Amino acid sequence: MRLLIVEDEARIAELAKRALERAGFAVDTVRLCGEGAAALAMTVYDALILDLGLPDADGTKLLRELRAVGNQIPILLLTARDAVEDRVGGLDAGADDYLIKPFAMSELIARTKALLRRPGGALGTTLQAGNIAFDTIGRDAHVGVATLALSRRESTILEHLLRRLGRVVPKSVLEEKLYGIDDEIESNAIPVHVHHLRRKLVGAGADAQIHTIRGVGYLLAEAKS
Ligand code: CA
Repeated sequence: MRLLIVEDEARIAELAKRALERAGFAVDTVRLCGEGAAALAMTVYDALILDLGLPDADGTKLLRELRAVGNQIPILLLTARDAVEDRVGGLDAGADDYLIKPFAMSELIARTKALLRRPGGALGTTLQAGNIAFDTIGRDAHVGVATLALSRRESTILEHLLRRLGRVVPKSVLEEKLYGIDDEIESNAIPVHVHHLRRKLVGAGADAQIHTIRGVGYLLAEAKS
């Protein structure tokens, strides 16, 4: 799950990025309204965390532009304590929620997850294939009653395979979901994670299998009985 933070205060952006990454998200940060618009035009994000006081324009400008073209991305505003009118204006302009600075990182994570759980948000609850179940909120995977010990990246891969059960997930999409813009991606990184995930699933007796579609990506399919 990929998030964009538009925040000009470097320290806040960095702390938020690190906290959200620890919570299992891939996170990109930019510091200007214009950079935010450019990033959103290039990449599909699951949610936007938007500071209102930005150097080049007010964050509500970006918010209004997105809503004007029908973009329904969940948006969490970051606002200063004394900026009550901005906050109200932001919610009127189509923001989903707001956080007042300074905020606890645990609060940021909780609010972000709440946005993603809303109808139309990217977080469902439990994804299933055969005897495999994945809870997208707790981020734990089970095969039957057994809990699977997965790395963060293995969990993310499993989640996307489950979301497109029976259909191919291109390797490029997995790379986009797993890594931020600034991360170096080793060419064999995804195959290695998939290899480990596949071994864990087989070892636990999963009755759905990951198939490699050579040159394209991967597909999770339930075994035919
Ligand atoms: Ca600011």
